[in-house]
Amino acid sequence: MTTPASRHHKRPRGEGQWALGYREPLNKNEENKKNDDGLNVRQRIIDVYSKRGFDSIDPADLRGRMRWYGLYTQRKPGIDGGKTAILEPEELDDRYFMLRVRIDGGQLSLEQLRVLADISNLYGRGTADLTDRQNIQYHWIEIEAVPDIWARLEAVGLSTTEACGDTPRVILGCPLAGIDTEEVLDATEQIREVHDRFIGDPAYSNLPRKFKTAISGCPAHCTVHEINDVAFVAVVNEHGEKGYDLWVGGGLSTNPMFGKRIGVFVRPDQVGDVYGGVIGIFRDYGYRRLRHRARIKFLVNDWGVEKFRDVLQTEYLKEDLPDGPAPEQPRDSRRDHVGVHPQKDGNFYVGFAPRVGRVDGDKLHLIADLAERHGSARVRTTVEQKMVILDVAPDRVDSLVAELEAIDLQVNPSTFRRQTMACTGIEYCKLAIVETKATASHLIDELEKRLPAFAEPLTINVNGCPNSCARIQVADIGLKGQLVVNDQGEQVEGFQIHLGGSLGVNPGFGRKVRGLKTTADELPDYVERVVTHFEEQKKDGESFSD
Ligand code: SF4
Repeated sequence: MTTPASRHHKRPRGEGQWALGYREPLNKNEENKKNDDGLNVRQRIIDVYSKRGFDSIDPADLRGRMRWYGLYTQRKPGIDGGKTAILEPEELDDRYFMLRVRIDGGQLSLEQLRVLADISNLYGRGTADLTDRQNIQYHWIEIEAVPDIWARLEAVGLSTTEACGDTPRVILGCPLAGIDTEEVLDATEQIREVHDRFIGDPAYSNLPRKFKTAISGCPAHCTVHEINDVAFVAVVNEHGEKGYDLWVGGGLSTNPMFGKRIGVFVRPDQVGDVYGGVIGIFRDYGYRRLRHRARIKFLVNDWGVEKFRDVLQTEYLKEDLPDGPAPEQPRDSRRDHVGVHPQKDGNFYVGFAPRVGRVDGDKLHLIADLAERHGSARVRTTVEQKMVILDVAPDRVDSLVAELEAIDLQVNPSTFRRQTMACTGIEYCKLAIVETKATASHLIDELEKRLPAFAEPLTINVNGCPNSCARIQVADIGLKGQLVVNDQGEQVEGFQIHLGGSLGVNPGFGRKVRGLKTTADELPDYVERVVTHFEEQKKDGESFSD
């Protein structure tokens, strides 16, 4: 007899798929998750670790389950990138944590923003980085502070639950949901439903690997659906009904793949169930033998779209979904919502660019005060490390823009400020090989000085290691941190260059050109040469990624 399990059992050696009977953990991570669910660490943090201090933390919690609540130990200061791969994890661990707060849909009230600012100043030495997944990350967090931080967050409806770990992480949403003049639909309700049904549910807290979600009606496709594990992209079907096109299996990291269209039309009221089906497939059929093959993209790639759709419909939804159309192409190659733009209701939204996502507690307070004084009660984070203030009356816009720019939050930034992103890097990240934020910030300054007239769209993404937290493979210029040899024969911080990556109309991963490397010191010269060369050679209408 053919069972659902045997139907899918093609690989000669098990990949650790639960649905095929491989319940015994095949590696240390799986063992830790089986020994105790990541969600259970919360009570130990409250009852034990926060009271007895850092040294009381069980190592399996410290380097594993803490992530289920957004906590990672940060890198001990002063350890250079050459030691990253050599040292044991405990030698890299500082006694402080990075703490990630999930901001589903990037939606924040001023009250929430002020609580985030207070936590930064009280417990994070003022740190607050905007991530490229709409989260906020603090550094320097001590374990003793965590219960109070949670209490403050939870009092205003925020949390760190499943902000990291092998879990359903933050749900990306368009910052302009409900106000954009051209949006296909407002996805806020579906984001809320998925959040409320699945986040923190022990039935979905032991996934093979992280699981990234986007749900959006944005015509600019600002949630980068192509590189999420699952994405619901708003479309209008042939009957004029609004719903979603389902994409599964996108992801970057060391084996980049674009998500694939499953080809179904999902009504807004079906999003919760379809999400449950997709995450269920991942939990049950996802590969658990090797961490680097555990993301859902590998399963989708092996199965193909037809089989994925068949399993989703027959085993999980118990109903067929109709075929649906593909999304329209994005209206613009810039997806960041920076600048001043009209809303549906006659008001304006104002998107602004901090430097490489770096803000701080005081600045977050200033943003909240500025928004309030200009009649707004809502701010948003974007997937480009930017922020947006909503609902500004036409006669208040100029004043808000001037006040934001006065504190270096630029509403009309140069291309370089606007489109350069950087991951955390060696300052705090234990996997990093090189410094990123300061390097990228210096690069912006230099390029603004050297190429003041350059105004084309151009993305420059700076990563501190071969992981792709700052999406190097889809940037025009992607910089992958590594050690390189300089002219004097010394090993120094530098970057492998990926050129010509893009999303949107002609998606493609940047080409890694063998031998194309630069030292961090020479980075401004290198990028200036590439950009100048492009300007000289380009034909009419050609963009950098062409
Ligand atoms: Fe850390 Fe590497 Fe991710 Fe940067 S890309 S934050 S260095 S893991």
